Amino acid sequence: MMSDSSRRIRMRAAGLLTGTALLAATAACGSGAADSTGGSAGGRPEVTAALYPLQWLAERVGGGDVAVVGLTEPGVEPHDLELTPAQVAGLEKTSLVAYVKGVQPAVDEAVEQHAADRGFDAATLVTTLAAGEGHAEEGHGEEGHAEEGHAEEGHGDEHGHEVSYDPHLWLDPSRFATVATRLGEKLAAADPAHAAGYRERAAKTAADLTALDGELTRGLANCASRSIVTGHEAFGYLADRYRLQQVGISVDPDAEPSPARLAEVAEVAKREKVTTIFTETLVSPKVAEVLAQEVGATTAVLDPIESRPAEGDYLSAMRRNLATLKTALSCS
Ligand SMILES: [Zn+2]
Repeated sequence: MMSDSSRRIRMRAAGLLTGTALLAATAACGSGAADSTGGSAGGRPEVTAALYPLQWLAERVGGGDVAVVGLTEPGVEPHDLELTPAQVAGLEKTSLVAYVKGVQPAVDEAVEQHAADRGFDAATLVTTLAAGEGHAEEGHGEEGHAEEGHAEEGHGDEHGHEVSYDPHLWLDPSRFATVATRLGEKLAAADPAHAAGYRERAAKTAADLTALDGELTRGLANCASRSIVTGHEAFGYLADRYRLQQVGISVDPDAEPSPARLAEVAEVAKREKVTTIFTETLVSPKVAEVLAQEVGATTAVLDPIESRPAEGDYLSAMRRNLATLKTALSCS
């Protein structure tokens, strides 16, 4: 898949961009003729963010000291993202690529081939959950096994999460706070002239995320129900952190669940006296509506924040999710 010329460019880039001089070097080597997505903007390092939550984080932590380029357009379901040739070319020159390995196969492959020395993979920075954890039908309770074991559970292949862990880690603000801090350290090391600013904004962002985590913990402490039936299994981290049980209708945002799976979920929903079936912002609510009707529940939107919210930002979207959950689960 990798052409000789791309291999040559990558090797050249790897030779040039080492250690802490990485961002500065990228700024210097942007020969960037007719390319608007080049590695620096007005001398600022460029951070490429693969999906919205990381774009939000990069903008918050990078502030005015970096130029942030997003790979996923608003309103686009990110798992199936295909990169344009211009975006791939941009990766050759960008200073840092923030992504979560396992969310977007196209990004994982492009980073490996074109920016292997400049990847910032959030999944390597936190304790990941195995795919399927937080699932009401499966035993759980162990935590913190990132890569080992559970490979057999990998719903991976069919829906693009080609890793053994659940990649939706941004839905736990406490983990996301760790990512914020580490991004600040990474940028500070790479661009020492602006280190103080990166660290200050990272600390502020981490504090905002920690405050949000506290709101979720308090808001979801006392609820009549703790089962959430969701469209695709994106909410494992939220479920794990706040002691909810996720019942995913489908693991794949695009695929129609089998009749057997639907019957199984309906069974759980009735048993758990679920009053709300959650739909997602970017996925057709049809299946969830059918299921809701069958079990006598209503539907409500829970946002996996895989794309920029129509209004507000990551923080306000998470607060909307909290309000939705409190109503649906009858939390006091
Ligand atoms: Zn997802």
